[in-house]
Amino acid sequence: MYQSEFEIIRRYFAESGLYFDKSGVELGIGDDAALLQVPEDKLLALSMDILVESVHFPMSADPGLVANRALAVNLSDLAAMAAEPFCFTLGLVLPDNDEHWLQEFSQGLLPLARKYNCPLVGGDITRGPLSICIQVQGLCEKHHAVRRSGACVGDKIYVSGTLGDGAIALASLAQESHLGKSFAFISENISANCRQYFENAYYKPEPRIELARRTASLLSSGIDISDGLLGDLGHITQASGVGAKLSVNLLPFSASAICCMSEENRLLAALHGGDDYELCCTLPANNCAQFEEQARQADTPVTCIGEIVAGSGIVYVDEAGNSLSIEAASYQHF
Ligand code: ADP
Ligand code: MG
Repeated sequence: MYQSEFEIIRRYFAESGLYFDKSGVELGIGDDAALLQVPEDKLLALSMDILVESVHFPMSADPGLVANRALAVNLSDLAAMAAEPFCFTLGLVLPDNDEHWLQEFSQGLLPLARKYNCPLVGGDITRGPLSICIQVQGLCEKHHAVRRSGACVGDKIYVSGTLGDGAIALASLAQESHLGKSFAFISENISANCRQYFENAYYKPEPRIELARRTASLLSSGIDISDGLLGDLGHITQASGVGAKLSVNLLPFSASAICCMSEENRLLAALHGGDDYELCCTLPANNCAQFEEQARQADTPVTCIGEIVAGSGIVYVDEAGNSLSIEAASYQHF
């Protein structure tokens, strides 16, 4: 493979449509480093995610879908900071020089790179066990970068999309789940539609860039949900020095999650699952109407699921507003 390293870079990366002109990218693939012009009124946001075969995606996974997911989860981190995608770099460790894999992989990166005007500007390739490292660069308005640390008592908590689908998708893809053996479909006969829905949820999460772009100035804090709502909202409460009251009955679920999973397992997936890549954000109650209107215009469903309270940690309430014990809400602790 070493012989044809430059050929690989040229065919699958430099000349594959992934590297395209963009204002601010002075120099991309081909030199020792890329050169970027960061506008004076912006902050450069950097984020990196590594995906390792068998850990983050199955051995047999479709390379195009893996590529899409790898870029999507990185863009989701930019969305969580309300950063506009700028460009990305790619580190690839490949076991061999598999032309089919490389072709499918590089084409799989194209749709999101194009959609978010985010060209590939550099990277590295080496031989070893298959893993994929993407670093995205984004641009934030100096005063509107959304951090985890800004939540205030009385703020409303919102999430985009639906919760739990990422964890349910792992069950659908017959991957081992950290949610335990009882985390399984109600029936073994899941419809093809539901299976397809979960596969899309896993491999094609929609980075909430547009929602973040429109609402950054309205938010007090934000995070993307990659490790389950509890953990990720927990990062917000911890960084902000506050607590959160979560209305368990308001958590949004997809029709497929409702159709295929018990209520307990849905809740488990939403709270303790992962891979949802939805945004969880907080905002002053006065901003909610404007936030919901902007979400409508971004065509992104959003749901208010609770509010920030004084103290620390997360408490749960039921429909009537009565507090639920943490044990009851977090169910079986596998
Ligand atoms: P160097 O030896 O200076 O590190 P390389 O030979 O690794 O440079 O890479 C040559 C050029 O190709 C560089 O501009 C680098 O950013 C780019 N490149 C290498 N691998 C990739 C990749 N996987 N994706 C995109 N660009 C890459
Ligand atoms: Mg060099």
